[in-house]
Amino acid sequence: MNIVISGVCGFIGSNLAKRLIAENHTVIGLDNMLTGSERNIESLMTNPNFVFVKHDVIKPIDLDDDIDWIIHLASPASPPKYLTYPIETLRTNSEGTRNLLELALKKNARFLYSSTSEVYGNPQVHPQSEDYWGNVNPIGPRSVYDEAKRYGEALVMAYNRKFNLSTRIVRIFNTYGPGMDPDDGRVISNFVVQALKGEPITVYGNGMQTRSFQYIDDLIEGILKVMEVEFYEPINLGNPEEYTVLELANKVLQLTKSKSTIIFKPLPENDPERRKPNIDRAKKILGWEPRVDLEEGLKRTINYFKELLNR
Ligand code: NAD
Ligand code: UDP
Repeated sequence: MNIVISGVCGFIGSNLAKRLIAENHTVIGLDNMLTGSERNIESLMTNPNFVFVKHDVIKPIDLDDDIDWIIHLASPASPPKYLTYPIETLRTNSEGTRNLLELALKKNARFLYSSTSEVYGNPQVHPQSEDYWGNVNPIGPRSVYDEAKRYGEALVMAYNRKFNLSTRIVRIFNTYGPGMDPDDGRVISNFVVQALKGEPITVYGNGMQTRSFQYIDDLIEGILKVMEVEFYEPINLGNPEEYTVLELANKVLQLTKSKSTIIFKPLPENDPERRKPNIDRAKKILGWEPRVDLEEGLKRTINYFKELLNR
């Protein structure tokens, strides 16, 4: 198949491109390099089944080839990045999503939108299942991301209902693994890099807020399964094992054998207190569930960052 991936230089996009190319598909990767890294696609650049197009999805796009799937991953994803690029984040998920939906209509391609657990905001229902409508502050600092993703979901459903476009929406919960940028700013990359450098581990707030961490390979497996079914409503993809941020800090210290200390910094505004997916829908519709636990995933991620920092 010919598969378009937007955000191909990012963490998830580059891992997905490598997997699809290993399965002999052709990947046309789009990226404007806002938060992505050339390093992530270095190994693909000489591959005849990989085409890189430097393109900002905020601008309309047309391609000569037939396209079977469009997987829209472009968007700043970590809180410090989307707070640095608020307008770009809003536009990439609104105008960018529309441009790629138009391309999907023209090419009669299957379309996948990467939404997020952030659409649940600071959830009043725990764990979060897809029929929970969320608790989001529409004008809070994080709204540039979570409201943009909510709009993106609405747009995708409108194209599905009005044009019968074959669409999918996945709500991705915190995902980590090789391919993350050391300066990304998300908790796992921060803690692992700090531990490896012997710098203090920065816990925000009292560290009692929780998150559920999914290893990248599990997410990729889930996305591929979603593409194979005709199911249009959102599907949570995440690992339901839930940890406090402080537990995560201690686990990273233990696995890296680091002598770093833990320091406490202010909690960012509107930082959700807890987050855990209900994955019953993914289990039922896709026969999918995560396989890699936190300890195993962290070991692989620590090895990746060790190698990167020694480069
Ligand atoms: P990332 O920042 O590593 O990658 C995003 C990529 O998109 C970057 O390469 C960036 O340069 C590119 N990009 C941004 N705006 C663009 C534009 N206008 N045109 C073209 N390219 C653009 O992030 P990631 O972790 O790989 O996330 C990928 C997608 O998954 C995002 O849409 C994100 O919202 C979603 N998601 C990720 C997570 C996670 O835990 N990683 C969780 C929920 C949702
Ligand atoms: N966090 C932290 N220290 C860091 C980075 C993040 O304590 O150096 C916390 C953050 O406040 C949040 C959790 O870790 O409670 C997860 O943050 P992340 O940015 O990875 O993703 P989020 O789930 O908030 O989008």
